[in-house]
Amino acid sequence: MTLTPSHIIEHLFCPRFTYFEYVLAIPQYEEKNYKVMRGRNLHDERLERNKDYLRKRVGRPGAPVTEKHTDQYLTNELMRGVVDEVLGFGDGTMAPLDYKFAEYKDKVYETYRTQLYCYAWLIEVNFGRLVDRGFLVYTRSNNRVVEVPITEEDKLDVKQAAEAIFTIIDRNFYPKATKAKARCVTCTYRNICIK
Ligand code: SF4
Repeated sequence: MTLTPSHIIEHLFCPRFTYFEYVLAIPQYEEKNYKVMRGRNLHDERLERNKDYLRKRVGRPGAPVTEKHTDQYLTNELMRGVVDEVLGFGDGTMAPLDYKFAEYKDKVYETYRTQLYCYAWLIEVNFGRLVDRGFLVYTRSNNRVVEVPITEEDKLDVKQAAEAIFTIIDRNFYPKATKAKARCVTCTYRNICIK
């Protein structure tokens, strides 16, 4: 089994998601259906996009965009993922760019950030180049581009989450509940979880 960014996002939301879903194999039906629908809409939206307009918006002073690799399926020893675009810059760095079928509401959701951190890790392993930022394109806000900084710690956090997931799965380990109890209120697993 290799992980996807969704596994990491769920695990960081609450480590018990990993246990219920992958040790006890109790699925989250609603969530999965939602993801399928969302994926379909996003695909339609992306067909209409102008692929080259971005180059002007994301380069750094003295480090313009020099490469663009689209729909990159990348793997490392623990994870896999498809990055909408991997951009390369004149200073040798790279960055993931991800399209969101969403409006920008003055805040980048933690789930979007985590996804970019996962992609940063995948890009560094596969291309051997530093990734210190990523980009989100909000297609419902006139393709607004938002830059998200990515630190070494951010990449380390997703690596450690990936390792923790395998520990739970391989050892049937029942992890501690999330400290954010507000999350339990709407959780799919609230009826079976011993808090
Ligand atoms: S009920 Fe709370 S502690 Fe249990 S899995 Fe859901 S979010 Fe985690």
